Amino acid sequence: QPILEMRGINKAFNGITVLNDVNFSVKKGEVHALMGGNGAGKSTLMKILTGVYSADSGEILIEGKPVSIKSYDDAQKNNISMIFQEFSLIPTLSVAQNIYLTREKKTSLGLLDDKDCEMKTEKLLEELGVDIKPTEIVQNLGVGYWQMTEIAKALSQEAKILIMDEPTSSLTKNETEILFSFINKLKAKGYSIIYISHRMDEIFQICDRITIMRDGRYITTEKCSETNLDTVISHIVGMQFDQAFE
Ligand code: ADP
Ligand code: MG
Ligand code: MG
Repeated sequence: QPILEMRGINKAFNGITVLNDVNFSVKKGEVHALMGGNGAGKSTLMKILTGVYSADSGEILIEGKPVSIKSYDDAQKNNISMIFQEFSLIPTLSVAQNIYLTREKKTSLGLLDDKDCEMKTEKLLEELGVDIKPTEIVQNLGVGYWQMTEIAKALSQEAKILIMDEPTSSLTKNETEILFSFINKLKAKGYSIIYISHRMDEIFQICDRITIMRDGRYITTEKCSETNLDTVISHIVGMQFDQAFE
């Protein structure tokens, strides 16, 4: 049973269909690429999953149970988290403060002091195998580690399904490798990752399956190990691509 299933999703803006009966399903512990040309509907689908837009029709199921996601809060309650590139972190605060303080402050449970925060963070980072100090100030870390802090924060909020949109776009080759080894650890721990990217080399390196959309429609889902670049590209651009070479 998939951890996440989106079934028959339809969405129109001002009478123009943007998603037409889209199906998308993610398993526990997999990295699942979502691909398609510009305007294929990927962002809209993810915005429906995270409660930014509501679908005109269709269902979202988490572990087989239908859920209603009307806000980002609802998404988080269903263990779905969007990994933003950097915007949700406060650069002048420490890693620990970024992960715990802002959230704990909102609860009625009272404030965690910095020491508690640091201890919890240390444990979390250790579990995740991330080699940064909880007391490190975020702005002094490389961009790759900002993203890991962001991911650690999501996991501290019980996220099980992480959405990453072009996560390597501002990373160096070395930072990308560090992120990928981190993603592999998350996978091994049973987290699921929706990976949006145009980088085919990266998708074949890190993803288990790939779902392709075109013109607001679901086209296919393939195992990365059982497909190849040419097949994927022809699905992305459609038959006219093949025909163009006939
Ligand atoms: P992708 O992320 O695959 O590039 P999008 O989901 O961003 O595709 O866009 C799919 C289509 O929906 C595009 O034609 C886009 O112009 C349209 N669209 C997206 N958001 C809106 C909106 N808020 N209002 C009107 N049209 C939109
Ligand atoms: Mg786009
Ligand atoms: Mg997009």
